[in-house]
Amino acid sequence: MVRSEPAMTDEDGNFLKSLSALRLVKESVEPLVKKGSLQYTEEIINQARQEAGLYGKDICGHCTTHNAVPCKPGNGLCHYDKDGNCRFHDTSDPLKAFKICPKGICNRIVRIIKSRHRFHSPTFKNTDARRWFQNPFEIMKCFIPTDGYQAIETVEKTDLVGLLSVIINCKSFQSLVAADLGAQHNIFDKMREIRNKTFHSADYNITDRDLQEHMKLMLSILNDAMFLAHDKDAQTAAEKIQEIADSSVHVYCGEEVQDPDLNPESDFSWGKTIRENAREPVRDTVYMVHPPGGMLEVSKGSQHQLSLGCLVVQARRARFSATWPV
Ligand SMILES: [Zn+2]
Ligand SMILES: [Zn+2]
Repeated sequence: MVRSEPAMTDEDGNFLKSLSALRLVKESVEPLVKKGSLQYTEEIINQARQEAGLYGKDICGHCTTHNAVPCKPGNGLCHYDKDGNCRFHDTSDPLKAFKICPKGICNRIVRIIKSRHRFHSPTFKNTDARRWFQNPFEIMKCFIPTDGYQAIETVEKTDLVGLLSVIINCKSFQSLVAADLGAQHNIFDKMREIRNKTFHSADYNITDRDLQEHMKLMLSILNDAMFLAHDKDAQTAAEKIQEIADSSVHVYCGEEVQDPDLNPESDFSWGKTIRENAREPVRDTVYMVHPPGGMLEVSKGSQHQLSLGCLVVQARRARFSATWPV
């Protein structure tokens, strides 16, 4: 069966292009967040040690978040019942009561995190104080304003919004970013808005004009003069985003691909291979979307298992085409 009309519009194609570009931005800011996490966590712990009068490499690792964070309204953790008892802290449980750290470090770290937070409102729900001395990202998660990141241990496993929030809310990141992070609507702030706008769009459509604006902003992030402009991978990502921005998108759904430019010998058999769920060397860069919203890039010459039922967008020079395997 050959479909005569496309089931997907060019604006659907814009949405796919935007997802590809957002993934490239996310991968590009990962090294920046990793570098900052390592550097600022060390600074925060060292400051706490010095204030406690310790000049070695003392660590704690025994205080829980309950132990370290004082019981106070407005800290995002403590809520009180009608008798004034905190629902978070429990004075009868040693692991859930507030206490002074035996090393004098952990309560100081809490205070320093708050002082380095742009809005003085860290999210301690995202962190486990016992891991502060093992994983540099554990402290950085306090700078993500929404909870739900407690089980996440790495920068790679954190979504773009989480990473941008760390950069924006941890004031120390200003030393790795040229844009003024304290300014309203700075490029990192706008990037977070665009990501949210894309993912929360009611119709999952992006107009050509919006897409061009989004791409322009993404490029200005990747060209931020302090760290990203000197990072080879970020610059390669910028080139790819430019290529995506310059491509036209044609998306077809159906059993067969109707595209006059497709070579039946190569492109069509490629589509057939996907339908047969076979392991096949990839001949070109391919963006695989399964389910919509998930994104994986496999590159030329690699072996990759393509699952039946995936939407596969075959990226070629200045042109995308897609098959919907049946
Ligand atoms: Zn409390
Ligand atoms: Zn402690």
